[in-house]
Amino acid sequence: MLEIFKVKTSQKVELVDITSLLNKVINDTGINEGIIIVYTPHTTAALTINEGADPDVKADILNEINKIIPFDDNYRHFEGNSAAHIKSSLFGVSETIIIENGRMLLGRWQKIYFCEFDGPRTREVFIKVIKG
Ligand code: ZN
Repeated sequence: MLEIFKVKTSQKVELVDITSLLNKVINDTGINEGIIIVYTPHTTAALTINEGADPDVKADILNEINKIIPFDDNYRHFEGNSAAHIKSSLFGVSETIIIENGRMLLGRWQKIYFCEFDGPRTREVFIKVIKG
């Protein structure tokens, strides 16, 4: 079964924690063992897994990525959002997580983030839970 979720972002560049949303999808399937595939069909957004305990980690990731990939750098792309395209490719648009005992096998401090790089926008996240 395919689940499609909308994620509404409010900043130009932002990390949105979608972990609880994914947990709810897994609970609704009743699947105890398997994998969850999370995918976002956008060229200026991404997904990543990182620390969720200290919000400063999120802030540091965004500060540094904005320095590494500046918003303006004589890019050729006419839309003016090349930085967002590059960030999307660096982070990647999907994550696959093992499900064991009805829960994602995440590390203690890990959260799953939707990465907005050209917001604010309403985005889509595709989710597939596979038993196995
Ligand atoms: Zn573009």
